[in-house]
This record gives sequence, structure tokens and C-alpha cells, in this order.
Amino acid sequence: MRLGMVVDTQRCLHCGACLVACKAENEVPTGRSRNWVAEREAGTFPGIGVRIEPGQCMHCENAPCVRVCPTGASYVDADGVVLLNPDDCIGCRYCIESCPYDARYFDEDSGTVDKCTFCVHRVAHRQQPACVLTCPAKVRVFGDLDDAQAPVSRLAAERGGAVLKPEAATRPKIFYLS
Ligand code: SF4
Ligand code: SF4
Repeated sequence: MRLGMVVDTQRCLHCGACLVACKAENEVPTGRSRNWVAEREAGTFPGIGVRIEPGQCMHCENAPCVRVCPTGASYVDADGVVLLNPDDCIGCRYCIESCPYDARYFDEDSGTVDKCTFCVHRVAHRQQPACVLTCPAKVRVFGDLDDAQAPVSRLAAERGGAVLKPEAATRPKIFYLS
């Protein structure tokens, strides 16, 4: 299994429900967030517009955050999800520096780093990640990228899936539909 996600930015309402759902589900501290909804300039003159772009950890297949972690606290699980064991995190923040997507934050209270986990605690019980389930516009579709029949794979194949910052060569597993 290779868990990943597609994101249909054209459907996003910029309502922020995914942000609230993630914070509540994962008890993210006040002032911090595991996901975001960015506004990006898109298009070329004279057709310049704004693209609403939900994001989170890209669960990269070539993850620099895992490579630079000196203790092995950052790791990849059997389903390709990039996770972090807080018990082994010494708070050096090398992983934060290495991430091209600014997807990690340092929790001052615990002295450890935190980020999106694809809600693996929910996925283990055959539930969708909180952001996927909550979104009223069904912007995110989550599933097994190794299953060609899974909606996530079919959407990526049919509509094309672009990754953010391809020049970073991190091979993200979140794809943005065109
Ligand atoms: S998005 Fe950042 S934190 Fe997530 S796997 Fe990639 S490099 Fe690591
Ligand atoms: S919940 Fe869905 S529609 Fe609302 S901001 Fe998040 S991705 Fe966009």
C-alpha cells in the first residue's frame, strides 16, 4: 500500500473546515497548524488570478526530513506515510529546516516537532483523515496510490496530478489536479 492524496483546488471554498477538523482531531496547540489553505497567484498576464491551495505534509517518497533526522524519530511506515515518534525527537529541528513545504512546526510545550500524519490512527480503523471527511466540497481524495482502481489513483490518472515544488525532487504523494 502507498497512501496518498489528490487535491482539487478548483473546488475549495476557503472555508477552513479542514483546518478546524485537523486541530480538533489531533489536539494541535493553539497558534499552530498541521495543514493550511494558501492563496497563490496563478496564470499569466492578463489572465492572472488567485488559486486557493489547501496543503499539509506531502508524505514525500524521497523525504529529506527523514534523512536528516539524527535519531530516527522521523521515519516512513509500511504504507509510505512519513511519521514522527515524539519519544525519539530531541528537538534539534533539522527536519523543519530540510522541509521545502514548511510542513512541520516545533511545539514549545513538548520540545518536539509535529506535523500531519494522514490521521493514521483513523486510517487503521478504515476511516478517512479528518480533513478529508470534513471538507464540504470534497476537495481531498485519499487512498492507495498502488491500487489503480482506487478513486485517488483514477483521478490522478484522468485529470493529471502535479506536485508542489517538483524542483525539490522530494517526490510528494499529494497531487494537485489540473
Ligand atoms: S513535506 Fe516536508 S515534512 Fe512532509 S515528508 Fe516532505 S519533507 Fe518531510
Ligand atoms: S474544508 Fe475543503 S473547501 Fe473548506 S477550506 Fe478546506 S479544502 Fe477548502
